[in-house]
Amino acid sequence: MDLRNCRKCGRVYAYNGFKYCSRCRNEEEENFRKVKEYIYDHNDATIQETSDETGVSVKKIISYLREGRLELKGEHHNMILDCERCGRPIKTGRFCGKCINEMEKEFKGATKSKDKKLTYEGKDSDRMYVANRHKRKN
Ligand SMILES: [Zn+2]
Ligand SMILES: [Zn+2]
Repeated sequence: MDLRNCRKCGRVYAYNGFKYCSRCRNEEEENFRKVKEYIYDHNDATIQETSDETGVSVKKIISYLREGRLELKGEHHNMILDCERCGRPIKTGRFCGKCINEMEKEFKGATKSKDKKLTYEGKDSDRMYVANRHKRKN
């Protein structure tokens, strides 16, 4: 059995492919569900308000948005993030459509630096998110 320390509470648990113990994983899912339900019912909620109402940190809510886990509808005018590249307001992910286009162009042009991959694609940004979290913990 592969025993590990939960990244969140530090408890030893049998590794199951997740970086948290089952208790923390349930808590995470519960948090996510609360946020999702709250914004579903409150189209005009801001990130701060959602945090206050659900008890889930602003940082966490932003990470749900950055990961594209929260599905926002057109009515969610206040749930905005900044494009990490140009600072324009966006609804989900990390970059605005314009920057994604530009980066795609740059990426295609940058054939020399193959090892220096851009990380705006879904799976790469997930990985980056995990890496950032890791960094913060240590
Ligand atoms: Zn835990
Ligand atoms: Zn942008």
